[in-house]
Amino acid sequence: MRRIRKAKIVATLGPASNDLETITELFDAGVDMFRFNFSHGSHADHRARHEIVRNLEKKTGRPISILADLQGPKIRLGTFAGDSAMLKVGDQFVLDRDETPGDASRVYLPHPELFAAVAAGQNLLLDDGKIRLSIESNKDNRIVTRIAVGGKISNRKGVNVPDAILPIPAMTAKDRVDLDFALSLGVDWVALSFVQQVSDITEAREIIGDRAGIMSKIEKPAAMLDIDGICNASDSVMVARGDLGVELPAEQVPRAQKEILKASRKYGKPVIIATQMLESMTESPVPTRAETSDVASAIYEGADAVMLSAESASGKFPVKAVAMMDRIIKEVESDPAYRALLDAQQVPPLPTAEDAICAALRDVTKIVNAVATVTYTTSGHTTMRAARERPTAPILSITPNINTARRLSLVWGIHSTVGSDVGSVEEMVKVAVSAALREGFAKVGESITVSAGLPFGESGTTNLLHIATVK
Ligand code: PGA
Ligand code: MN
Repeated sequence: MRRIRKAKIVATLGPASNDLETITELFDAGVDMFRFNFSHGSHADHRARHEIVRNLEKKTGRPISILADLQGPKIRLGTFAGDSAMLKVGDQFVLDRDETPGDASRVYLPHPELFAAVAAGQNLLLDDGKIRLSIESNKDNRIVTRIAVGGKISNRKGVNVPDAILPIPAMTAKDRVDLDFALSLGVDWVALSFVQQVSDITEAREIIGDRAGIMSKIEKPAAMLDIDGICNASDSVMVARGDLGVELPAEQVPRAQKEILKASRKYGKPVIIATQMLESMTESPVPTRAETSDVASAIYEGADAVMLSAESASGKFPVKAVAMMDRIIKEVESDPAYRALLDAQQVPPLPTAEDAICAALRDVTKIVNAVATVTYTTSGHTTMRAARERPTAPILSITPNINTARRLSLVWGIHSTVGSDVGSVEEMVKVAVSAALREGFAKVGESITVSAGLPFGESGTTNLLHIATVK
């Protein structure tokens, strides 16, 4: 089984898509990576999903990627007397350390770290940005604000602090428990929410090691200040437009998306565009024209993957939403303008042997009109560098490591397979050719390009480029 597209589809699993039948349909419709959202559901739910996806993998023989998305430090208000209060524009509103239920003039904020981090002149956003408070003073454990945009507020609503770098790690106590659990299942990627700085990633890496790839969710303006550093330190990034669009004015999100895409391409890290892509399909079998355009734009911009959240997790038409994404991507990729746009975003290779081979691979593949470019990889690194070059032919990746194969399923242009190590150049060519035939990429008489590292079986040795004719 091979997919006839380069960009990938990520679908979040949830109540609407927990059973074997639906997950199989989602995969058949085009899902390359399943996302487990640890903001919702129990460990038992995630374990059941994990088992279903791994069984599906066995049945189809295709490596499938699984992403564990950690909730992160979501800040929440305390409670209100009678469960809610009406906040009026122009009134004063105080956040304090008093646990008694709040009212229209004050509320408990159970996050001491916030009192140490915010200052007069900054804004606090409540309930996904629906309510806006501007801070007038912060002293003696009282944040005094003026209500700039009012409305009804209820118990434990979320608080966003767009203007400050908060002295809180990207991982909470809950995240650590969830992470241990996710790693014990054997997920392929772990997403960190509300990443603010490079140290958030290095701290997570100390725990995760190489057991999973680390994906940084970009949803804080603070992260945009060092987007290069964050892309470099991460294994992949997600443009998490839900929270990003609350923390930033909505009109700044498209520009931020482009900046994140550019930085991730520069460092060769896969990037997912997420949230509200086909939002109306949670209720309707067809998307709005604006939504199809949003998905198409993400692909034209060179994204590795587009993601479904509520559409597949709790919507009425999970499979139709995936099928729609699949059709939009194929349509964009068949447009000659798409190739021209990808080429225009080309970034220079680093002065390393593997980047030199990958850049040459791209050129040679185009010149000889190769139908596939086969990469041998152990860690997956070389194959990702090849994908960064956005070659014209699909990348058929061969690795002896199932974890590498699964992780690569997320990346643009990669058809990921598991195969044993080869011991000689003759064997390398033979295996590459038969894989290209078997997986449906090549016919007799066509050319393929092959990259590998000599000596075989050693990681980090990519130094060989070969052209083969399929016989
Ligand atoms: P979330 O992340 O759904 O976990 O909040 C995605 C986003 O913020 O867009
Ligand atoms: Mn988010």
